[in-house]
Amino acid sequence: VKSSYRLFCDRCDSEIPLDPIVWRCPACNGPLDFASAGLDPLLDRSGAGGFWDYGPWLPEMNPLRLGEPVTPTVELDWKGTKIVCKVESALPTGSFKDRGNAILTSMLRDRGVRGVVEDSSGNSAASLAAYCARAGISCDVFVPAATSPAKMRQAEALGASVHRVEGTRQDAARAARQLVDEGATYASHVWSPLFLVGTQTFTFELFDQFQGRLPDAIVMPVGAGTLFLGAYHGLVALKNAGLIKRMPRLYGVQPSGCSPIADAFARQLSSPVEFHQRATVAEGAAIARPLRGASVLRACVETGGAMVSVDDESILEAQHQLALNGILVEPTAALGLAAVDCLRSSQRLTRDELVLAALTGHGLKTLHA
Ligand SMILES: [Zn+2]
Repeated sequence: VKSSYRLFCDRCDSEIPLDPIVWRCPACNGPLDFASAGLDPLLDRSGAGGFWDYGPWLPEMNPLRLGEPVTPTVELDWKGTKIVCKVESALPTGSFKDRGNAILTSMLRDRGVRGVVEDSSGNSAASLAAYCARAGISCDVFVPAATSPAKMRQAEALGASVHRVEGTRQDAARAARQLVDEGATYASHVWSPLFLVGTQTFTFELFDQFQGRLPDAIVMPVGAGTLFLGAYHGLVALKNAGLIKRMPRLYGVQPSGCSPIADAFARQLSSPVEFHQRATVAEGAAIARPLRGASVLRACVETGGAMVSVDDESILEAQHQLALNGILVEPTAALGLAAVDCLRSSQRLTRDELVLAALTGHGLKTLHA
């Protein structure tokens, strides 16, 4: 059985056939989402290795491979209870972004694209650079000038042209869009629905790693929400295929210096609040105007989870605790664990539940800090 995918617009309900170069709704310029059908209820694995094993549940493409592993799970004793971490930093460029960029870039190559433009807070730039290098596609990335030097150098070393933009993440996006307006192909991890198709594999791997019995709750960092929403889509796919009855509760965590979605959740709003970004150590989650914030809020509510924020001190403390366990992550990646205490004290998590934390990015990327 071959799965089929279609794109649709969240705003105006337009339906569009799957095409990797279409990054927004042609009718209203809104963000596109995707739906899948015909997924084999046995969750066929191809044996291709890593997330490519789930090829039968992905759109048709020739995979660009960089030796992606199934990211390992590691058990921690976290203040007296067990927490399982999924170590996304084990992916080829050291962050979960490889899931989305591998799928997006493979399909762009199949489509004959020779050059792409993207904007990023750092990790996606390095990841896209790697897959573009593999594909022979030229890659221009726009990053805020304050991005971690190691992330910019990583992207440059992988052959990308890195453009440093003074200002915020939004300013970097504006600069990239100028090239897109002139005709460049936009490989935006925030806009492209195919990126979310790729991050679904986070959940598919978990399903196998837990022999079909998923954890009670999953905590993860949320900036643009691309891992969060992909993980949610993966849960929907498993549920539609009849492989799970109940979804784990999804908890998204933002730094208090930039928490437009968590603040909206606290006020029971359906879309992110206007937020004036302050400095935070969690640079990867510093997205003041998250495009898919409303979808993140819906996924929280549907799974019975929540959005919360934590201060920099708690983030650095969680990062340090992880390091004492031998796991080095960047501050952004420690957001999920940093929220465990407050989720427990507000009774959102109980001590006997199995909690999984996504560790989204490697600590080597921010060692200068
Ligand atoms: Zn539309």
